[in-house]
This record gives sequence, structure tokens and C-alpha cells, in this order.
Amino acid sequence: MRLRGVRGSRNVEDRRRMGGGGKAGIGGIGLLVVLAIGYFAGIDVTPLLNQLPQERSEPRELSAAEERAAEFSAQVLATTETVWGELFPEQVGAAYAAPVMVLYSGVTQSPCGGASGATGPFYCPVDGKAYLDTDFFATLEQELGAKGDFAAAYVIAHEVAHHVQDELGILGEVNGLRQNASQQEANALTVRLELQADCLSGVWARSVDGLLEPGDLDEALNAARRIGDDYLQKRAGRVPQPHTFTHGTSAQRSSWFAKGYDSGQMNSCDTFGAAEL
Ligand SMILES: [Zn+2]
Repeated sequence: MRLRGVRGSRNVEDRRRMGGGGKAGIGGIGLLVVLAIGYFAGIDVTPLLNQLPQERSEPRELSAAEERAAEFSAQVLATTETVWGELFPEQVGAAYAAPVMVLYSGVTQSPCGGASGATGPFYCPVDGKAYLDTDFFATLEQELGAKGDFAAAYVIAHEVAHHVQDELGILGEVNGLRQNASQQEANALTVRLELQADCLSGVWARSVDGLLEPGDLDEALNAARRIGDDYLQKRAGRVPQPHTFTHGTSAQRSSWFAKGYDSGQMNSCDTFGAAEL
């Protein structure tokens, strides 16, 4: 992705100099929200529930790699602000209110509960912020095999897409439906939500076409496959169990991303009306 000269967003809240995010327990309503939000996390919610945030440590300096990750994230976030700021009036007839992105290191707090890096990036609709542990970029590349800067950009675009869904009222509606559904039905709704976020990420990618370098699109499609439920379950040594899927298969994730990219239209992302995913 050609980001030289691209502005960095000001909507970044960098908490990484603060070490651990302070001490707070997770319980009651917070826990329910964490479970609901955990589905948006992308990787695994379990560490979030077992591990309470650590005590706040001394402020620290950021490494050069961390500084680069922040600059990259701010630039990618800025491209989402430009893209959705244009597409909302054009395609929805409404203004777009951009989200804040929280950068953290290790653990942090959100109104949706405590987060740890192992959770993966997530979006919290309560405060309208996207949360990203910048170490996740290394996890993505080294552990999940999703290489390239555009794989990382896709992850940011995916979390921003959840904010887009929130702006459109879809997130609230689906969360309401999910509460009265069986686990299996709730999972199926979550899959449609996640695939829609992938499709909207594709719409964003189409709009930043001018910044793409050869291979970028493949990096995003590969990343989408590497975080497919079937792939992750197989990778964990399990036989994929479709009724437990919450994000869709590798094939579905990459094909919905491609659908959004090919059309450039938000209304091509109607995963809830689609007969087949
Ligand atoms: Zn998601």
C-alpha cells in the first residue's frame, strides 16, 4: 500500500505508553457484553475471560516498530475516514461520523470489557471505538501467515466496517435478534455480520484503489482466508464444526471481500438477504 504522503488520522488514542491498562474486573453485564463483543474480535475470546488486566505499569518509551505501527494505523484509519465520508452521502444519504481507534499494548479496558492482545482487534459499540493491539500485526504475519501491509490494513478496515454497521443501525438490530436466538442461530447471525464487514472492507479497498501496489489485493484475500473459522479450527487441530462458526469459512470471507471490491457498492453487501453465503 502506497502510504507516503497520506495524512494520519487524529482519531487515534494511543495508550501504549501506559503499560497495562489499569486494574478492573469483568463481571455481570460487562461479561455479557464481552461475550457478545468477543464475536467481533476475530480470533479468540477465551483469553479475555481468563486473564484480568494487569496493574498499570510505569510509562514507557515506544520502540521504533511500535511507532511505525502507529503511523501506519493512523494513515489507514484516515483512508477509511475519507472513503466512508464520501460513500455515506452518496450511497446512504447520510453523514458519516468516524470512530476513534485505540492502540494498546498487552491489555486495556473498554466499556465492552477488558481486552488482551490475544483477543485480536475488536470494535466496541458502547463507546464507538475500535481497539487494536499493534502486536497483532506480528501475530497476523508470523502465526497466521497473513503477510503484507495490506493484510494489516484489511484488519483495520474490517474493524472500521463494524463501526459502519453500527452507524447504519445494523449492529444494534442484529445484537437484539441474537439475544432471543438459540446459540446456533446466534452464531449464524454473527457469521452474516462478519461477512458483511468483510464485504464493506472490500468496498473500502476499491475506493483506495489508487494506493494499491501489485499483490496488495492478494494479501487481503489471503488474510481473509487465514482467519476463516474452518481454517482456524483445523489449525487448532480440530475438525471444523460449522455450527460453531462465527466469522464464516475462508472461502466465504474472501469471496465477500471480493464482492465488495468488485462492486464498490455498499448494497452489494447484503449478507442478511443473501440466500447463499
Ligand atoms: Zn469482525
